[in-house]
Formats: sequence, structure tokens, C-alpha cells
Amino acid sequence: MKIASIVVRACRLPPASPWEDATNKVQGLEFVFVELATDTGLAGFGLTYTVDIGGTAIKALIEDYLGPLVIGMDPLDYEAVWTRMNRQSRRLGLGVNAMATAAIDVAVWDIVGKHYGAPLHRLVGGSRTAIPVYVSEINLRSDDTLDDLARRVAGYRAQGYRMAKIKIGRDDPEEDVARICIAQEKLGPGGRVMVDLNQKWSAAEALRLAPRLDALDLGWIEEPLAYQDVDGHAALRRAVRTPIALGESLFSREQVLAYLKAGAVDVVQADVAFVGGVTEWIRIAHLAQAFGKPVAPHYMMELSLPLLCGAPNGFMLENVIGGSLAELGLVASSVGIVDGVARPGAAPGHGLVPDWAAIEAAALRPDEVRAGFRGGSK
Ligand SMILES: [Mg+2]
Repeated sequence: MKIASIVVRACRLPPASPWEDATNKVQGLEFVFVELATDTGLAGFGLTYTVDIGGTAIKALIEDYLGPLVIGMDPLDYEAVWTRMNRQSRRLGLGVNAMATAAIDVAVWDIVGKHYGAPLHRLVGGSRTAIPVYVSEINLRSDDTLDDLARRVAGYRAQGYRMAKIKIGRDDPEEDVARICIAQEKLGPGGRVMVDLNQKWSAAEALRLAPRLDALDLGWIEEPLAYQDVDGHAALRRAVRTPIALGESLFSREQVLAYLKAGAVDVVQADVAFVGGVTEWIRIAHLAQAFGKPVAPHYMMELSLPLLCGAPNGFMLENVIGGSLAELGLVASSVGIVDGVARPGAAPGHGLVPDWAAIEAAALRPDEVRAGFRGGSK
């Protein structure tokens, strides 16, 4: 079997609910989609994404360089396909090329699954058939009150969720504590609250502020510091009992390894789209396993679910409010979550079916981006 052709599309749309955290106000999610056709008639669907910036570059990188590079290769040799893209794009550093590689890699795995008639979660290990889900909200608007938060968390609990992640990082740390306490109250006994700082703190602030959170029995503190600060995370981890979670800002297994070796992370949150797809994500999961650490991938719920079910150290699935592919209207079916537990589908490959009409309606138009881009970083 050979990859015969590739079609690339991209769209840009706002989250289904407004997203704002301690360091960013999200303007648009940009998705890049790939259709790989083979000479046997089998086809694969892949995708990647970026927040706010870079979708046009990812699309061009696939169309002009990575796509032509893999045409003629056998998609069953997923390691060979991935390595070819990785070696050829290494001069670009890490980031846009890993995101572009992911779209093709995900499509390759879709073909592998269809060829063998196996769903993705079994292709990557088949460790289990159900994964606990935590609800994850991106809502730290300045006008968001404790009552608003209480109402939302009570709603999550009513939907069957026992674990919820909220954004913190207010200028007044007592407001953070109040938000955590109200969320814990609304989740009730047996519930667990995680917090995400989106790299808000300096290393010194973290050592001053984190011990206050340490008394609150949180599930984890996520991205407390700048993603480059391995030593700072290691120092913080030594100073608190609460697990430290991170990984959404890392793009390779080498970057994850640096955190693991430094004793700077407890929960590895690699994002399948940011690390170059399924092939690299599996390597990272196994790497984390070797260090005795669980994986709880960032976002991309529809793809993260089968990966978590494959990995022996799969921990929990993130359901970001306003960000699932189904909520955004980009795919036909949604992940079934019952009482805070998700189960992967049985369709061969990843089973995602794109809604091309919806994708076309939100098509990424470079001229519009150029005219209106202002960014959302604080
Ligand atoms: Mg996060």
C-alpha cells in the first residue's frame, strides 16, 4: 500500500464558550485537517490544531513540504513515515513542524486501523475499555464571580462528574483559594479539584504561594511556571505534596524526559497534536511509565480517549468545556460520557468522521487573519 495523495484544509473558529485563563484570552482555535488517500482505496483522516496563531503556516508546511515527502510511502510503516517527517523538518526546531507532523501521523494511524480492522485503542495497546473523565473549564474572566463558578461546578456534578479542573491565577491569591473551596464544596465528598495556572507564577511566587494551596488536597497544580523552567518546577515539586502536572507546552519526548529526569513533574500531559501525533505520544506515555508517572493528555478528547485506553499508565481524560470537536461541530459524532466515564468506539481507526460542510463554513482565510489578528496573550 502506498500513500497516493493528500488534501489539506484548515478552519478557524472561536471556542464554543469564551476561553480566558490567567495568561491568555483565546480568540480562535485553528484546526488543520488532512485526508490521505492510498493506492488501495483506503483513506485516512488526520488533524492537528493550534491556539490563536500559526494555522496558515501549519497548512502550508503540510501542503508544500511534508505531504509531498510522504507520498509513495507505505502508511503501515508508521515509524518510517514519522521519522522521515521528523528528520526532514528538524531544522525548524520544535513546534509548528511537530503540529504539522501530527496531522499526517493521525491520518496514517487511521489507515493502519482500517487496514487491520481494529480501533485505535487496541492498536496502541488495549489496556482498558473505559477511562475516567474530568471536566475542565477555561473561565477566569474578570467578571466571573464565585456564584457563577459555584453554579457551573454544581452543574458538572449533576452531569455525573466527580473531578473538575478550574483556572486560577487571580492577582489576589485569596480569590484563588475561595474559588477552589467553592468548587470543592459543590463537587462534594469524593470529588477532586485540580487547578491550572497556565504559567502565571514566577519561581519565587510559586514557592511563596503554592504551600497555601498544598493544604487544600488538590488533584494537581498544572503549569505553575514558565514551560522552559525545569529547575523551577523541580524545586516547587520538592516544596509541596500536591502533584505537579504539565506537558501541554512540550513538543517532544526529549523535552518530557528532561522534566522526568529532573524530578519536576508528576502527571504528564502531552498533547497528541503538539508532540507530532500518535507515534510520539505513545513513546512519551511509555517513557512516563518507566518513571512511574501517569499520563493525562491535554485536550483533543476524541483522540486522547483511545490513546489513554491503550497506555497502561493512562490516568484520566480531559473534557474541555466548549472545545470538543463535537461541540465545535467539526465531527459527526461525540464521545459518550456516562457518569464521568468515557468508552472508546469500536470503529476501525480513530473513528472520527469530519463534517466537511462545517469545516468549509469556518475556513481559515489568511486575508481575514491578516486584517484582524490582535492576539490574546496577557
Ligand atoms: Mg493547562
